[in-house]
Amino acid sequence: MKERLLRSLPKVDILLKDKDLQNIKESVDYYTFLWCIKNVLGSFRENIKNSNDKDLEKLSDNLLASIKKSIIELIQKEKRKRLQKVFNGTGTIIHTNLGRSVFSKKIAKDISDILSSYTNLEYNIERGERGSRYENLEKLICKVAQCEGALVVNNNAGAVLLTLNEFSQGKNAIISRGELVEIGGSFRVPEIIKFSGAKLLEVGTTNRTHLEDYENAIDETSGVLLKVHTSNYKIKGFTKDVPLGDLVELGKKKNLLVIEDLGSGNLIEFTKYGVIQEPTIKKSLECGASLVMFSGDKLLGGCQAGIIVGKKHLIDRLKKNQFLRTIRVDKITIAILENIFRTYLDEKEAVKNIPTLRMITEDIKEVEKRVNKLSKLLNNKNISHSVIPTKATIGGGSMPEEDIESFGIEFKGDISPNRLEEYFRKNPVSIIGRIEKNRFFIDMKTIFDDDIEELSENIERVFLERGIK
Ligand SMILES: *Cc1c(COP(=O)(O)O)cnc(C)c1O
Repeated sequence: MKERLLRSLPKVDILLKDKDLQNIKESVDYYTFLWCIKNVLGSFRENIKNSNDKDLEKLSDNLLASIKKSIIELIQKEKRKRLQKVFNGTGTIIHTNLGRSVFSKKIAKDISDILSSYTNLEYNIERGERGSRYENLEKLICKVAQCEGALVVNNNAGAVLLTLNEFSQGKNAIISRGELVEIGGSFRVPEIIKFSGAKLLEVGTTNRTHLEDYENAIDETSGVLLKVHTSNYKIKGFTKDVPLGDLVELGKKKNLLVIEDLGSGNLIEFTKYGVIQEPTIKKSLECGASLVMFSGDKLLGGCQAGIIVGKKHLIDRLKKNQFLRTIRVDKITIAILENIFRTYLDEKEAVKNIPTLRMITEDIKEVEKRVNKLSKLLNNKNISHSVIPTKATIGGGSMPEEDIESFGIEFKGDISPNRLEEYFRKNPVSIIGRIEKNRFFIDMKTIFDDDIEELSENIERVFLERGIK
């Protein structure tokens, strides 16, 4: 039986030409198609070898059909592994797993010309000679953030590492115990300090740190006073931390630099829009921090980058640090950030055209329009659903406790919420929804107006292909 079954496995050539596989074949490249066929045949072969007579009986029924089904499933799974568009129905605006901040279509268009041309990346057009890749963007950042100097590196973790290496190597970086945080599972302040060559000196306790704690720790082995914005959590109750301004005073008295890792780089006064305030870059600079570091793809609304702003003579020292070469940015980053910072020259433009800011500050009526538009399209397709109020969040380690009013579309169907979640997620254009209190829904806060029609078609596809009633 075993031998007969093994011999009856189809040959690769035959499957390559199989009529039932032609559609799926056209949807992938040849090598993926071939790899999937070989992979499936291999696992069927193993399976047959390891089966008892009863299992073999089952396997021999519809052997060819189950092989083809497995091949199609494997190809679909492989296709989901590519970097691709997904619908974010989670309601988390800066979703680290889904690529943090999104650019507007306008930015994508604006930079496409730069990406497919030669550029003056390191060429000074005025003088006709070699220039600096950082120069133009630096001037623009200085204008927007009102600072003397700026430097852009690969990401904020790199910015912190570079700064500590330059100003605290072999010396103590003094930091409150309450600020030794981990962000997103891979950025841990103590580890970064260690890698930079600085020595971690923690002061105070988890919930309370006083100015004297810093003061008592300062001696000739001190390098910098480091402040880290705790981003993704809040300590409540009996707490105390030292305001940046007080730390700056102390730094002046003791001749020590005060540097701040702000995490989410914010330039907007959100209270104007009825949203809780997140510390701004300008405020930190006004308080007198020597250098402030932040991410490019969190509240700023740009791409992955670390941005360092502050005193010019300190930025100049960072530019000469050899480590900078290993975390320098590509022209894509520079093109995007130039565009983003130029948008910030007019705050009204920024909150309108940078999707992250637009979603945070928009009126609830805008979300209501989107939910009604989708609901109407779904009604036309006879897909049962209901419109529900929801709470969206900002994410990206910003404003951890701030909820934003939103609307969602809840689906029931004749299956469990977990199944629905899976079927939506595994649709060819993945739809990532949310389950709360045993209900599955799509939060419309993070769905773009331009995408609603395509989303409705994909929802219909899930219902049809999975036979959901
Ligand atoms: C997010 C964050 C980082 C890491 O920034 P990346 O740009 O992801 O490297 C570092 N520090 C703080 C406080 C953060 O919130």
